[in-house]
Amino acid sequence: LGLSMAACANDGGSGGNEGGGDGGEGAAQDLTVGVAMPNETYERWVQDGNAVKDQLEEAGYEVDLQYAADDIPTQQEQIEQMITNGADILIVASIDGTALANQLQGAADEGIPVIAYDRLINDTEAVDFYVTFDNYTVGVQQATSLLTGLGYLDEEGNETDLDETKYIELFGGAPIDNNSMFFYNGAIDTLQPYIDEGLLEVRSGQTSFDQVKTDDWEGANAQQRMDDILTQHYGGGTEQLDGVLAPADPLSRGIINSLTQNGYPETLEEGLPVVTGQDAEAATAKLISDGVQYSTIFKDTRKLAEQAAVAAVAYAEGEEPEPNDTESYDNGVKVVPSFLLESDIIVADNVQELLIDSGYLSEDDLS
Ligand code: BGC
Repeated sequence: LGLSMAACANDGGSGGNEGGGDGGEGAAQDLTVGVAMPNETYERWVQDGNAVKDQLEEAGYEVDLQYAADDIPTQQEQIEQMITNGADILIVASIDGTALANQLQGAADEGIPVIAYDRLINDTEAVDFYVTFDNYTVGVQQATSLLTGLGYLDEEGNETDLDETKYIELFGGAPIDNNSMFFYNGAIDTLQPYIDEGLLEVRSGQTSFDQVKTDDWEGANAQQRMDDILTQHYGGGTEQLDGVLAPADPLSRGIINSLTQNGYPETLEEGLPVVTGQDAEAATAKLISDGVQYSTIFKDTRKLAEQAAVAAVAYAEGEEPEPNDTESYDNGVKVVPSFLLESDIIVADNVQELLIDSGYLSEDDLS
């Protein structure tokens, strides 16, 4: 088996790959890492895929990178194919966290370690490690930025004495994505006290995850639901709406389209409702710096890719990757040792520093 071979081949000790890249050194020798990504329509997965591939190739590994167009059977087949083709390690960002148990059992039977990427894979013993951002905290950050945008919190996060009712609506992610519930829980836990006090009111009455979910993480679905809510609860766009919790930038842009097409102003300054987001996509960074979208959450995919590569290399060297969390992510069968990264709230004031100066996006993305 590739891995045990690798463990033997790696007699130069760990770190033997550093500065490698010729594919012929240390643990990387002849090893292939299969990388399964959900789709290429969300900008981030392309960044994730490229970053994982670049980092592993630099360390001398072969990489089999596949995108599944958000189609569950396609992703299942891709993973089966990776195993058939002799992958030694798998890195998987699942579409449906509960649909891969058979494939991953196949991997386990072959002794192939499986690293869940960004999204946990549920209901299987056959997931060895999880690299992600702290997803509950992402939801807290989204809600916190909504409260800041509405004026209930100041820039330091302290409560202001604003005492008027503001109207908001809530959007969640795709129900088949294990992350969606974490984002929603972090957000609703943060907003609920304001709702209970009557400071925030959700006029549609739609507050449960089932009511606010967005199938397939599709911007068009969010736009349609926003249209329906405006028609049914906001006089077709003539009544006061102050903010919308949105859990991903493509959804935020669909929501903003709906708002402006239904007559709300084009910019925050003129009274466009505060809309949150996630992923710091280029188009959204521009909307934020143009004063249209209020906020997004920046999850540096370069750092996540690096952690996935570090975990893969650990397995290749016959070791176990080092988790920094062994409590938070129970997949229904076991608690999966995890490495959690931190995320940042982006608003107009820090777009330049956090997104452009860090090299995540380019200056051109804002023009
Ligand atoms: C990811 C988000 C992303 C969403 C839609 C989630 O699992 O964590 O970053 O916006 O999927 O692709």
